[in-house]
Amino acid sequence: MENKESAKERFLGSFLGAVNDWDKHLAEAIDSDDDPNRKKVAQEILDEQENHGNIINSGLGRETWYSNDYFINCMILDFISYAKGDLDLVNELKLIYVGKLGNPGVDAEAINMDMESEGYLIKILWEMDLNIQLISSFVSYHAYGMQIEDENEIDKLTPGLVESFLHLIDKEALLKKANEDAHVGQTDEEDPSSLRNHIASELYEASMKFLLGHEIGHHFLKHTKSNGRNIVSKFIPTDVTINQLHLDEFAADNFGFDLTIFRGKKESNKNFLLAPLIVILMLALLDKTPEEPSQTHPSMRNRYLNLLSKVSEINEQVASELQQFINFVASWINDFLHGYWKTEWWK
Ligand SMILES: [Zn+2]
Repeated sequence: MENKESAKERFLGSFLGAVNDWDKHLAEAIDSDDDPNRKKVAQEILDEQENHGNIINSGLGRETWYSNDYFINCMILDFISYAKGDLDLVNELKLIYVGKLGNPGVDAEAINMDMESEGYLIKILWEMDLNIQLISSFVSYHAYGMQIEDENEIDKLTPGLVESFLHLIDKEALLKKANEDAHVGQTDEEDPSSLRNHIASELYEASMKFLLGHEIGHHFLKHTKSNGRNIVSKFIPTDVTINQLHLDEFAADNFGFDLTIFRGKKESNKNFLLAPLIVILMLALLDKTPEEPSQTHPSMRNRYLNLLSKVSEINEQVASELQQFINFVASWINDFLHGYWKTEWWK
């Protein structure tokens, strides 16, 4: 076993553009001549994250982080604390490294195991994380809107709702808006402690955990012994039958669900139960035919129905409420995009 490189070393050594500290990498990209204050604020946030990250990692420093991204490291630490008492699982989880990359595309992948390295490497593209943030924000407006009765208050939600959706489907608009905001020094006026924000951040945390749990599932269920596995369709490994690949995807979805919900003791948290469903909704936005399987993946429709049945095993009433909610949101999307999907695949 000695002299094998770690998953982190493998990440840094084999991916172009891989960095040790993703947030620092982003902060460095801010042009300080352009806006010195923004750079200063970014540096302050970084310092705080670094300090907090080191405290929760028993003061061992960034070298022992499970990701080059602060939030993802926190999430893997949560998984480790969920597994407390199951030493084998804890030890396996400690072999994970999640590397965030700036390459274009919306994907996450459990990288195949190899002889020269140990541990479990997961790669997540920046835009996947961003999409999870945006779908969480978009869905939070809908979820919050359903909890309030004042029509005026509901109307006030529309701009944020539409904007988060437009950013989800048009990244250029998002970048343009971010640039404009930076130049006029505009910040979001919404109170960060608002209920809507709370829903969005819970959905984000739970969705990311489900997504990471899915990739961890591919590793722990030994799907990556010979080939890497993507969250979305890509290629057909030669040594596995298509049917087996489909079964593996359901198994990985179930693993992600169980790790996030059962291990995390979130069975009574509706936002956590909703999160896996909105990850599928987000992936379906990248798929014009969510009712059709691909060679490597089952249909989004069947993945959605499988996750919904997982929720109904916990609570049938909640599963039915969430199904109605997804019906509403998916119909909203399809109307907004004038029939982007040819079928009501969510029904
Ligand atoms: Zn997968």
